[in-house]
Amino acid sequence: MQHIAFIGLGNMGAPMAHNLLRAGYKLSVYDLSAAAIDGLTNAGARGAANAADAVNEADIVISMLPANEHVRDLYLGAGRVLDTAPPQALLIDCSTIAADVAKEVATAAAGRGFAMLDAPVSGGTGGAAAGTLTFIVGGEVAALERARVVLGAMGKNLFHAGGAGAGQVAKICNNMLLGVLMAGTSEALNLGVAHGLDPKVLSDIMSKSSGRNWALELYNPWPGVMDAAPASRGYSGGFSSTLMLKDLGLAQQAASSAQAPTPLGSLARQLYQLHQQGGHGQLDFSSIVNLFRPQT
Ligand code: NAD
Repeated sequence: MQHIAFIGLGNMGAPMAHNLLRAGYKLSVYDLSAAAIDGLTNAGARGAANAADAVNEADIVISMLPANEHVRDLYLGAGRVLDTAPPQALLIDCSTIAADVAKEVATAAAGRGFAMLDAPVSGGTGGAAAGTLTFIVGGEVAALERARVVLGAMGKNLFHAGGAGAGQVAKICNNMLLGVLMAGTSEALNLGVAHGLDPKVLSDIMSKSSGRNWALELYNPWPGVMDAAPASRGYSGGFSSTLMLKDLGLAQQAASSAQAPTPLGSLARQLYQLHQQGGHGQLDFSSIVNLFRPQT
């Protein structure tokens, strides 16, 4: 069985790594948080002292980190992955980062003889736990074929978006739309509730009408409408508002570089900026509904 190094064991990385263990892979793990490492070593992984220690025997390196700077640092900086991974290792970065940074890291990796994929995911923490993520991949087809089985242990949909960085472009388009849909869903629910409607009844109606969308149907932002959604557990866990703000910022940078108009994405970014400024960055991104709801 292949040996996998998994780096970044947060809300997404931890359940993804657990699925690799369940599939029988030999796993070395590293995170800045000792508690995050313990969660995986208790399930049978080897806890590494640092990133270099995690990757030194790996056939495949998978990273799931917050943002550009963490990925750059892991592969090109202090993490020293390009210096310490075995020469045949396949590198897969699943973080959501700028396409330009994904290309920069993939180019540096190729210069050292490594195949590398950008493989950001969609499906949230629920999809990560259930092993039903969608992987949106950029890079060479041959590298994607080498990754297919291992990604299949963590997800059920695999798309090839194009060359290096293309996975990130597609992911940013998706998340810009998600930010717009979550803000729009919140606005519509609040309007109905302000007129005395039950948010669950209104959600049921819109889910069977032309306003239906993922935020409404699977990740409802109104507390109590959906038991499994972060809204029903005080917006804990899930996908933080800070990370959504990061993604909406990446979308705006991508829009500027291509001179593509994105007025709704721009407005969604401003709403998440306001939300973050209000001190709610660590709450799940569906808590944007609180910008609309009268606070008691
Ligand atoms: P998170 O903040 O919960 O986890 C990130 C983890 O990386 C933390 O445990 C942190 O300690 C660790 N880390 C940071 N720097 C490190 C380093 N140098 N070395 C080792 N570990 C390091 O974030 P998350 O919610 O798991 O998201 C990870 C990525 O996936 C982000 O790019 C996010 O945009 C994307 N994403 C998240 C979701 C979601 O629903 N949470 C969905 C799709 C994509």
